Amino acid sequence: MGHVIVVGGGQAGASCVAKLRQLGSTDEITVIGAEAVPPYQRPPLSKSYLLGEMERERLFLRPEQYYADQGITLLLGEAASHIDRSAQTVTVGDRQLTYTTLVLATGSSARRLPDSVGGGLSNVHVVRDLGDVDAMAPACLPGKRALIVGGGYIGLEAAAVAAKVGMKVTLVEMADRILQRVAAPETSDYFRAIHRANGVSIREGIGLSGLVGNRAVTGANLTDGSHVECDLVIVGIGISPNVDLARQAGLTVDNGIATDVYGTTSDPNIYAAGDCASFPWQKGRMRLESVQNAIDQAETVAANIIGPRLPYVPKPWFWSDQYDIKLQIAGLNTGYDRVVVREGDGRSHWYYAGPTLLAVDAMNDPRAYMVGKRLIEANRSPDPAEIADGKSDLRAMLKA
Ligand SMILES: Cc1cc2nc3c(=O)[nH]c(=O)nc-3n(C[C@H](O)[C@H](O)[C@H](O)COP(=O)(O)OP(=O)(O)OC[C@H]3O[C@@H](n4cnc5c(N)ncnc54)[C@H](O)[C@@H]3O)c2cc1C
Repeated sequence: MGHVIVVGGGQAGASCVAKLRQLGSTDEITVIGAEAVPPYQRPPLSKSYLLGEMERERLFLRPEQYYADQGITLLLGEAASHIDRSAQTVTVGDRQLTYTTLVLATGSSARRLPDSVGGGLSNVHVVRDLGDVDAMAPACLPGKRALIVGGGYIGLEAAAVAAKVGMKVTLVEMADRILQRVAAPETSDYFRAIHRANGVSIREGIGLSGLVGNRAVTGANLTDGSHVECDLVIVGIGISPNVDLARQAGLTVDNGIATDVYGTTSDPNIYAAGDCASFPWQKGRMRLESVQNAIDQAETVAANIIGPRLPYVPKPWFWSDQYDIKLQIAGLNTGYDRVVVREGDGRSHWYYAGPTLLAVDAMNDPRAYMVGKRLIEANRSPDPAEIADGKSDLRAMLKA
């Protein structure tokens, strides 16, 4: 009997071990998780859980009993510190566990502000782990002032929550516009307007010179020379894949732990999946930071551990909740040269490269999302003029 060890008890780790058992694996299975809690979902951390509208118990992907019932050992609360590839062992604390197959599902870490700009002051938070949110939630109180650093999805979701609880919210984004890295100007404009309508001060093209405060943060100096007073700072400036363990083990790292299309790293006995892994994509490599990617990639790895080798084919989708807007994104917009705006049931932005549909951002428009996703997966591109006509029948385009 083999021993599959999964390092990382997040979405990818949990999906991998569940799939292994579902596919009939009789191997011994161990999950090593640095966090002291069983695998849980992160998306609510910057949404309903931060808002206090979701109970902690509902975050967990499965009840703890599930793992016991499935003969899956959870070693929680301590990080794996070393991999010896020739002995095929992983070190946790003072124990060395021997694997036949190792899966790295180490996820990613939120980038923090350095101490030199006040990142070490109290009441300066990131939103990555349950512990982060439990630490900041008590400070999210009506009338208090929140400064959000970074206008990506995490920053915008945190801003929406803070505004909803009645905080006075300022968001600074160093780039020219919010969501610049991930979305078209049309989508940035849409969300800027929503946030402003909810009283959030969105300040773009402005960076942080430094946070101010003795022990706790009291304000921030900005690059335009202005000063903002605040009681709480939430930093959403991106993430870095957790690759140290892999690097130290001599595995190839290239914007994440480099895998082939089957999820295998440069060592045939070691796989990687989720936020920490990069895989071949078009002429380069791709690393995705989404729940869907973590699940699908991890399940592909599980299948490849026990059966015929299946390539990982990403079907990217993502979502974000801000106020009463549900944004759903299908596809990847990389390389787009045109955005077609559709005012249908809700609003949607369709990204094209020449005649080819790449991606759709759908705001409160599940039909546009669903149709766009299916068209993209089928490599089909509707006529942009038809898309722009908000009265055209989207479903009919699926049949055409
Ligand atoms: C606040 C927030 C909101 C999000 N919202 C969305 C959303 O709306 N939609 C969406 O699709 N995605 C969203 N995401 C992204 C999504 O949650 C991640 O892409 C997904 O969790 C990745 O899963 P993972 O298993 O690869 O990594 P993770 O979930 O990060 O899990 C990795 C785990 O490995 C552990 N670990 C790391 N190193 C070691 C080690 N050496 N030993 C043991 N354990 C280790 C970490 O502690 C962590 O628990 C959000 C993420 C955050 C933080």
